Amino acid sequence: RPLVIAVDGPSGSGKSSVSKEVARRLGLEYLDTGAMYRAATWSVIESGVDLEDAVKVAEHVRNLDLTMATDPSAPGVWVAGHDVNEAIRETRISTVVSKVATNLDVRAELLKRQRELIAAGRDGVHQGCVAEGRDITTVVAPDADVRILLTASEEARLARRSKELHGNADAASVEATRDQIVRRDSDDSTVSNFEVAADGVLHLDSSALDFEQTVDAVLAAINR
Ligand code: C5P
Repeated sequence: RPLVIAVDGPSGSGKSSVSKEVARRLGLEYLDTGAMYRAATWSVIESGVDLEDAVKVAEHVRNLDLTMATDPSAPGVWVAGHDVNEAIRETRISTVVSKVATNLDVRAELLKRQRELIAAGRDGVHQGCVAEGRDITTVVAPDADVRILLTASEEARLARRSKELHGNADAASVEATRDQIVRRDSDDSTVSNFEVAADGVLHLDSSALDFEQTVDAVLAAINR
């Protein structure tokens, strides 16, 4: 039976880079569910669908031609054959993605696709999958073999995301990042409570850990 590892956490917790590395080391697939919500949002905007029209947005997402590559060494996202892996990380997407992600019909559609992707493997081989997001441990894969909530203090998350976005973590860059991180977390808080670990979910606080130490902590939890 393929191994399923579920990792949830807020933005800037490091869950994407850590999950990808863990998947690579263990020879598992890697599924970035946030990228699916981002790709849906990109496509809604690109198609000129009104973001405020919940019915049209849901219909658009149900018909979305979305391809996810789950190789952790070459993850990718395509909408109708168009490579959107970089475009979906732009600020114009980050600021409105919560609006699409809080649409319950959108969530139902992407949930179905996420479960299919986790079960699918790649090229006929399926050792397992590390899936990360906000509701993997609770909704998408509550029966995963290992479930982890990866958090970090607001300060640590701001500093990390600031380095990603601005190349450094000086006071001005951190402030410019604050709006994105803090506001998006509050916009997302109706999706699931990803600050508190659900029953049976291991809570890992990475505030005081560097990347390697966090990867090691996740690997240790899996090997336990
Ligand atoms: O993980 P990332 O920050 O790229 O996720 C982008 C957005 O997708 C989140 O802000 C949230 O609105 C949504 N999301 C979600 N459920 C998931 C993963 C992401 O609602 N499992």
